[in-house]
Amino acid sequence: MSLDFNFSPEQEEFRAYVRDFAQREIAPYVKEWDDVEQLPTHDIIPKMGKAGLIGLAAPKEMGGHGKDYITLGICIEELGRVDTSCALICSVNNTMATLIPGWGDDVVRKVFRGENLLSIATSEEDAGSDVTNMQTEAVVDGDDFLITGRKIHVSIMPGATYMGVTAWVKGDGTNKPRIAFIKVPADAPGISCEQMEEMGARGHQLGIVHFKNVRVPQANVLGSKTEGKKLLYARWGVSRCLSALNAIGSAQQVLDDTVAFVKKKVVYGRPIGMYQGVSFPLIEHYTRIQACRLMAYKGLWMSVVGQNPAMQATMAKWYSVTSSVDAITACLQMYGANGYLKECSVERRMRDTMALLFTGGTINIMKIIAIKELLGKEFAAIRGDGG
Ligand SMILES: Cc1cc2nc3c(=O)[nH]c(=O)nc-3n(C[C@H](O)[C@H](O)[C@H](O)COP(=O)(O)OP(=O)(O)OC[C@H]3O[C@@H](n4cnc5c(N)ncnc54)[C@H](O)[C@@H]3O)c2cc1C
Repeated sequence: MSLDFNFSPEQEEFRAYVRDFAQREIAPYVKEWDDVEQLPTHDIIPKMGKAGLIGLAAPKEMGGHGKDYITLGICIEELGRVDTSCALICSVNNTMATLIPGWGDDVVRKVFRGENLLSIATSEEDAGSDVTNMQTEAVVDGDDFLITGRKIHVSIMPGATYMGVTAWVKGDGTNKPRIAFIKVPADAPGISCEQMEEMGARGHQLGIVHFKNVRVPQANVLGSKTEGKKLLYARWGVSRCLSALNAIGSAQQVLDDTVAFVKKKVVYGRPIGMYQGVSFPLIEHYTRIQACRLMAYKGLWMSVVGQNPAMQATMAKWYSVTSSVDAITACLQMYGANGYLKECSVERRMRDTMALLFTGGTINIMKIIAIKELLGKEFAAIRGDGG
């Protein structure tokens, strides 16, 4: 029998371990993080590092924990059950440090210990989905680049130690336009940053970053032309499946809480779960979230076995995030007007989960990437990979 839907005993044990960690170290503080809109305080990043949640799928020689992408998915799903922001920070740092070569051994090891944080600075005012429309330039100056431009919607800024910055390379003696992805210390001279106010995932911080003649060595270019196909596939697929599982974790927790609530809440002399106007949407959303989970873990499994997960991962991401937002919105209404109040965590879960509609590319862009695979790239109305 080759088809097996079971997680291994080690993976189940790991799920229980992360669930316990999230309940102890994250749950008590999520309301505070939403209020103060700051990167999770109470040393949660080093605690996640110490608990082995960052660098999970990285080989032990890199300072990682030598697990697989499915185990990483379990981690993000469990963190997502409690806090979208922590799951997002953990997800970005796991994938960036593990799957993009060039950060340097010391930086990566510090990321895995929760002492350094990485972020990606790609989006600009007129270059979100269409990254090729960016204006940021890296002008060659001897062995260095001088970077000038303005990035927006940069997660974990302020807060990150290093950014991966995309820029058009100028003055390299060729006429061939090329975009480089460059490691830039977040405190380099010429960088300034201001925080944007977010509706949800407010603990993860979103910034505008200005670059004015920021000098970095050309050797800071990230990625490798010789990286294996497996690494390349993983980079495409893993982060989108993790976004899906972050949303699924959030929706599943809200659904579980709502199931308990509708069995207890009595209106017209009966628990509201006895009314099909309540129980039918509940089971419909429950069904969709189950289907989403299978899609997301299949995408991670494809990355593990070296299959191209591009279509699976984009389908998993758009369907899971929209289904999760829909499920949470439906649950919120089952709480009546109390669901609408700040003191009910469901309204925060709805705002938080909506952040995932945009991270790593919008829902439309996910569909267009899947269409490329389904119909052929001449039917996809975009250049590149869409944010
Ligand atoms: C919480 C959060 C975290 C983020 N983190 C980061 C980060 O760390 N680093 C970073 O660089 N960016 C980050 N972003 C930005 C994110 O990558 C962009 O929001 C996303 O790529 C879309 O770009 P945009 O918002 O400029 O929308 P636009 O590209 O301006 O698109 C506007 C609308 O048009 C639609 N659209 C565009 N083109 C097409 C088309 N061809 N067909 C159909 N519809 C289309 C889009 O789907 C969207 O609905 C983050 C955003 C959020 C909300």
